[in-house]
Amino acid sequence: MGGDTIKVVHTIRDMQSHSRRLRQDGQRIGFVPTMGYLHEGHLALMRLAQAHADAVVVSIFVNPTQFGPNEDFAAYPRDLDRDCRLAEKEGVAVVFTPEAEAFYPPNYQTYINLEALPRHLCGVSRPGHFSGVATVVAKLFHCVTPHAAVFGQKDYQQLAVIRQMVADLNMDIEIIGAPTVREPDGLAMSSRNAYLQPEQRPAALSLHRSLIQAKQAVAAGTRNVSTLITAARVEILAHPQTEVDYIEICNPVTLDSLETVTGPALMALAVKVGQTRLIDNMLLTD
Ligand code: AMP
Repeated sequence: MGGDTIKVVHTIRDMQSHSRRLRQDGQRIGFVPTMGYLHEGHLALMRLAQAHADAVVVSIFVNPTQFGPNEDFAAYPRDLDRDCRLAEKEGVAVVFTPEAEAFYPPNYQTYINLEALPRHLCGVSRPGHFSGVATVVAKLFHCVTPHAAVFGQKDYQQLAVIRQMVADLNMDIEIIGAPTVREPDGLAMSSRNAYLQPEQRPAALSLHRSLIQAKQAVAAGTRNVSTLITAARVEILAHPQTEVDYIEICNPVTLDSLETVTGPALMALAVKVGQTRLIDNMLLTD
């Protein structure tokens, strides 16, 4: 794929009319929403979207409503030119990059709130985050009108929230989950990895290592969740500059906490390494 010049769309109206034309031409639209500063994880999502669609649209929008007041909205890394080149190489048809002021004009007042899923995991320490995510994704869906949209399992709770929203609001969009892409050393790829100092790398790697160890422990017969969580905490806190936000083992569908691993179980964690908040997760059972 690739070769054709990518179309960069800045306005909501242009995006909607472009998507209308694609649909009139009988093209199936695949969509990959991102906040940009693209890495191999994003590119894998684009390839998956290509496999499910005729034309792929990628959005690049650092969404202010999903950041808390003390979070990294202003510092979030941005490089639109590089992102467009990378997307073009993947054969992406359109990059949609709306202005924040157009997406949220001064009188903006409509938000989507889920009842249960945001009470878990990242929703606890990031109040309002999943409302911001659900709202922006619904708005992007209305601009792009995709047939299918791809989200990474790296943000497992986000994928669950989007699936729930699409089902609850009867959106006629296929939601596709994509496996987490990792660096060769196991670190889950993330735009926020750009914040990490080289000396913080071993601490960052402790997230993945503790997940692998938990999975191995379950395979070896450990069933007690607090035993598994304690081991992960010890592994992570052995490194300097680490602060655990949460380590949970939960039902992969409801995200309700488990006490024992007797069936499907997801381990999810969020850890601050210095100022950088990292998340990762893994299914502990096959
Ligand atoms: P972001 O730009 O971080 O908001 O991510 C945009 C999309 O890429 C989301 O669906 C993420 O889950 C997905 N994503 C981010 N990092 C990875 C990764 N390492 N592997 C797979 N998907 C990812």
